Amino acid sequence: MSKRIYLSPPHMSGEEIKFVQQAFSDNWIAPVGPHLNQFEEQFCKYTGAKYALATSSGTAGIHLGLLTTGVKTGDEVIVSTLTFSASVNPILYVGAKPIFIDSEMESWNMDPNLLEDVLKKRSKSGKLPKAVIPVHLYGQSSDMKTIMSICDYYGVIVIEDAAEALGSRFEGRHPGTFGKIGIFSFNGNKIITTSGGGMLVSDDKTLVDHARKLATQAREPFAHYEHAEVGYNYRMSNILAAIGVGQLNILEERVQRKREIYEYYKEQLGDLPGLTFVDEIPSGRHTRWLSVVLIDKNEFGYDNEQVRLNLEEHNIESRLLWKPMHLQPIFQGYETIGGSVSELLFEQGLCLPTGTALTTEQLDRIVSIIRNLHLI
Ligand SMILES: *Cc1c(COP(=O)(O)O)cnc(C)c1O
Repeated sequence: MSKRIYLSPPHMSGEEIKFVQQAFSDNWIAPVGPHLNQFEEQFCKYTGAKYALATSSGTAGIHLGLLTTGVKTGDEVIVSTLTFSASVNPILYVGAKPIFIDSEMESWNMDPNLLEDVLKKRSKSGKLPKAVIPVHLYGQSSDMKTIMSICDYYGVIVIEDAAEALGSRFEGRHPGTFGKIGIFSFNGNKIITTSGGGMLVSDDKTLVDHARKLATQAREPFAHYEHAEVGYNYRMSNILAAIGVGQLNILEERVQRKREIYEYYKEQLGDLPGLTFVDEIPSGRHTRWLSVVLIDKNEFGYDNEQVRLNLEEHNIESRLLWKPMHLQPIFQGYETIGGSVSELLFEQGLCLPTGTALTTEQLDRIVSIIRNLHLI
């Protein structure tokens, strides 16, 4: 049996360990330290965000985003239904209620028309949702121009979940920098990783300062320990930030490689009946964090789960798309607007391995397994 091929494993450049060693030799093992500042500064420089706060996870970043924008018990928060549960759980942490919005077929992200419909209705009935969380899936930006103009019109705060979209663009800008707040993730399978961690960005200094305070146990500025708010332990450690400094240096290379891998799959498999590769939106740069293929069982002969199991037999990891949130047992009873697009994507989609260290020989193995299936 060949060595296992993972979906999207960490890929170190070799430089990260040098930054970590430096942190060790300077004894900056403490939670805060120079690498943390450097990582945040570099992150701002790369994305064009004014302020950044490195957190223990992307999920913690979303939670801090909701807390600092004042989302409270009983408020409503609009969120994409086709996403990972971590986009939604923090809404429940603050006692608010999610409203799920379906995808549009072009980008697979939040459908701006459905968003506008809900906001129009809610504004007529006098109670607008407090915030909107658009998610940029698999490295493709949402239509941030339309989403921002709708949300600005109704005065609703936007918190972008850009956990999967570091390195992508929308009209030349970085997703995550359009809304009031953007969050990113450096979990092990993301395009760059610190083994675990996240980033919150905003152009609002007061807000980021507040998030920093909440993330470090909400200490008031006194010599003794004084607390006037509920605090959290959500800060990234200096050691993990040292990994991040090294990873950020090679992010652009990783994006290029991810895009090449996608093009390879498309070139090698795109002619098979029933397989569809979806183009990037014209105004965006897709990072192809994961390469997703849609599989129509009627034409291809196998569905996404059967293809997944077949790859698994060859020790190759692939994965079904996120199961829409409105279909999750934990989120039953919340309002959902539309749903058929995300359901179709979930029924047909399969995420193929996109590790940036994959060799052509490994890619060829994956391709030939799928091609052979078609012949059976
Ligand atoms: C990974 C991910 C998160 C959560 O990030 P963590 O760093 O794992 O907490 C949130 N939203 C989406 C869409 C993600 O893919």
